[in-house]
Amino acid sequence: MGLAGGLSLLGAALTLAASSLGGRWLPDIESLRHNWSRLGIPGWTGVALAAMVGIWLAVTAVRSTVRVVLARRQHRVRLDAVADDSLGRQLERSRPLSRSISALASAHLLSSGELRLLDNPTAVAYCLPGLRPRIVVSQGAVAALDPAEFGAVLAHEQVHARGRHDLLVQPFIAWRQTFPFLPTAAIALGAVELLIEMLADDVACRQCDPVSLGSALRRLGDEHFLLGSANTSEVKTELDQRITRLSTPVRSLALVTRITLYLAAVTLVILPPVILVLT
Ligand SMILES: [Zn+2]
Repeated sequence: MGLAGGLSLLGAALTLAASSLGGRWLPDIESLRHNWSRLGIPGWTGVALAAMVGIWLAVTAVRSTVRVVLARRQHRVRLDAVADDSLGRQLERSRPLSRSISALASAHLLSSGELRLLDNPTAVAYCLPGLRPRIVVSQGAVAALDPAEFGAVLAHEQVHARGRHDLLVQPFIAWRQTFPFLPTAAIALGAVELLIEMLADDVACRQCDPVSLGSALRRLGDEHFLLGSANTSEVKTELDQRITRLSTPVRSLALVTRITLYLAAVTLVILPPVILVLT
């Protein structure tokens, strides 16, 4: 949808630019540079709009990507400074915790080296994505979760890290920053973020019990609501949606339906330019 929106904006501006020439769409666009004198006010308005939209889209996409990459790098440096990745030290800090959780943490550390235990009483678990991802779990989260829930949270965060879900959401962040005044840009970003969470839940449930993941989400969510750090009704609704999905078995779509949906998405993107080119 984001790509279709960007192409539509550029297409509309180019159509306005070519409208003065009165021929077919694609040949008129191609001949614009030889016909500056015939463009008139609508044509020049279209050229100016196309240039502005194109430059604005490119600059915002690059700027927002650089900003996110730099923020993550800074986050990783700070995280590595406060949360040592040494297995011995982390387990020393985890000593008051149950042995099964320590065993899960050490197994994860040994296998991937991505886990960081934060010495903080607030219950937090998240993934810091990148080429060298970090899965961050606070002592508060470890204390709030039982071993099955802890394992489910690790599995969920691992799916985010391995699936590079940050790359899926990044175009939508750029899209929202490009058009902060468009409600659809914010709605699309929110929808994609929720779908990515559901995707991570589904994949994680191949290795863990959905009930444990659901109760872990409830516990971590409740802590956040108590602290007032995630107090919007929207966040609560999304969490409820995810927990409801985990408690009721999801029937996966038939292969034919899935293929049809993918084809519909591709058609949505390419149909407007194809119609313009053919007419
Ligand atoms: Zn997640």
